[in-house]
Amino acid sequence: MLNQQRKRESLNGTMKAAVLYGKEDVKIEKVPIPRLEPGEVLIKVQVALTCGTDLKVYQRGYHARMIQPPALFGHELAGTIEEVGAGVKEFRRGMRVVALNSAPCGVCFFCSKKQPNLCEDLLFNNGAYAEYIKVPRRIVEVNMLRIPDKVSFEAAAMCEPLACVLHGLNETHAERGDSVVVIGAGPIGLMFMQVAKLSGLRVIAVVKRDEQVKDARRFGADETIQITAVDDPITAVRALTPKKRGADVVIEAVGRPQAWQWAVDMVRKGGTVNFFGGCASGTKVELDTQLLHYSQITLKATFHHTPEMVRKAFGLITQNKIHSADYVTGEAPLSHLKEVLRKMVDRSGQIKTAIIPGRN
Ligand SMILES: [Zn+2]
Ligand SMILES: [Zn+2]
Repeated sequence: MLNQQRKRESLNGTMKAAVLYGKEDVKIEKVPIPRLEPGEVLIKVQVALTCGTDLKVYQRGYHARMIQPPALFGHELAGTIEEVGAGVKEFRRGMRVVALNSAPCGVCFFCSKKQPNLCEDLLFNNGAYAEYIKVPRRIVEVNMLRIPDKVSFEAAAMCEPLACVLHGLNETHAERGDSVVVIGAGPIGLMFMQVAKLSGLRVIAVVKRDEQVKDARRFGADETIQITAVDDPITAVRALTPKKRGADVVIEAVGRPQAWQWAVDMVRKGGTVNFFGGCASGTKVELDTQLLHYSQITLKATFHHTPEMVRKAFGLITQNKIHSADYVTGEAPLSHLKEVLRKMVDRSGQIKTAIIPGRN
């Protein structure tokens, strides 16, 4: 009883959280601990991972679909349940969980077409860079998973990016033995390489910086092309494929129009391109109509994740097929978040950094 009371008092208090005010403007502030409505859950964040999307949000000061300042941000997290709202049955205080950053409605046109990642009412949740985060009811019901004891918080928190990557690879319909080019060696590019390798594909990595050559190899690339070391990345990639015909699948994981263009020129006749990296708004690419038509090239783009892919991703994590130590190469307390983001801007930081709000 006394414990209960003490708990309630503490939750009436404040917490430290990162608040995004605009372009490269983040402050660590004391904000009220969120109060729960029925069906909601409050998580004590044990780990929040940095992500390329957060970097974009930080540099642009907003995200068209996910976040408008001033707002709490960060979206890859795992933690322990601090409190459950009325009516929550599946979860209890003290459970270790990973809560995804969104959940589809399940009833709209796109949900009924089995494209829940395009849900008209996709509910986003941000605020992982904080001591606590409130999880809305729909995410609790659709996209919150209990973490087995043997799985670390770091590993569980990788569920979100991994689900996006699995969704992206799945949509290319690549089959065992196919060759796949992955352009880009950021956390997402590296994850594509590793998952592609696990799926029995031959991986050709197209990277930029010296250390990315090593990273790509480590994550399973069979061949690497460093763009600064060759005259033309397209010719270099094609030279690595039988009869220089191009790769079966090309995944663009950079988010630049030039790389999108390369992707089209690197794929073989009848092959598939996935424009996974979102480019800056307003940008355009030119397409060679003859090439697309006579070579029967499939161009796709994939966005975000689905509840099905979230579960697949979580399966790979709990089966220990994806190791967080490969990706999470740094650790920092919440008070250092600004420095961590600044290093990400300079591309001089870690692959991913684990922000530990409970540490000073
Ligand atoms: Zn992410
Ligand atoms: Zn929907």
